[in-house]
Amino acid sequence: MIIFGTRHKLKTIDRGEFYCPHCRTKRPYERKEARPYFALYFIPVFPIGHGSEVIECMTCGTLFAPDALNAAPPQTPPDLAALINGVGRQLAGGTPVEFVVRALTGRGLDYDMARAIVERELGATRRTCPACNLTYASGVETCTECGRALESPR
Ligand SMILES: [Zn+2]
Ligand SMILES: [Zn+2]
Repeated sequence: MIIFGTRHKLKTIDRGEFYCPHCRTKRPYERKEARPYFALYFIPVFPIGHGSEVIECMTCGTLFAPDALNAAPPQTPPDLAALINGVGRQLAGGTPVEFVVRALTGRGLDYDMARAIVERELGATRRTCPACNLTYASGVETCTECGRALESPR
């Protein structure tokens, strides 16, 4: 018994660097053409017709439509840059850590990134409000939400 059919085979036609929407950073890619093959016993024999193209991120392996190459990396808006630069001042001024992080993620910053920026400004110690559970920089004495004295720095 002979089985005929069509298969798809990915052929690399180009390589380069692009902004991967999944990795959210610059990554190497391979542009691949998915060509339908006439298959005999499920083994591709020869290409038939014209295939469609995909972009594969070589880091995460996600496949994208070719227009992904035109996607520009999101620019850090100037107000976000100002917000990041003001993190230390806000924390020292008594803004809870949670609020600062939320302000950053609210402007489109990745949660882990926002957290890392805040942690860097905080240093090793922080204080918590026994009532609200909000976290503050070690120099802050009272909770700006409820007015209670904060726990000793830890
Ligand atoms: Zn990727
Ligand atoms: Zn409180």
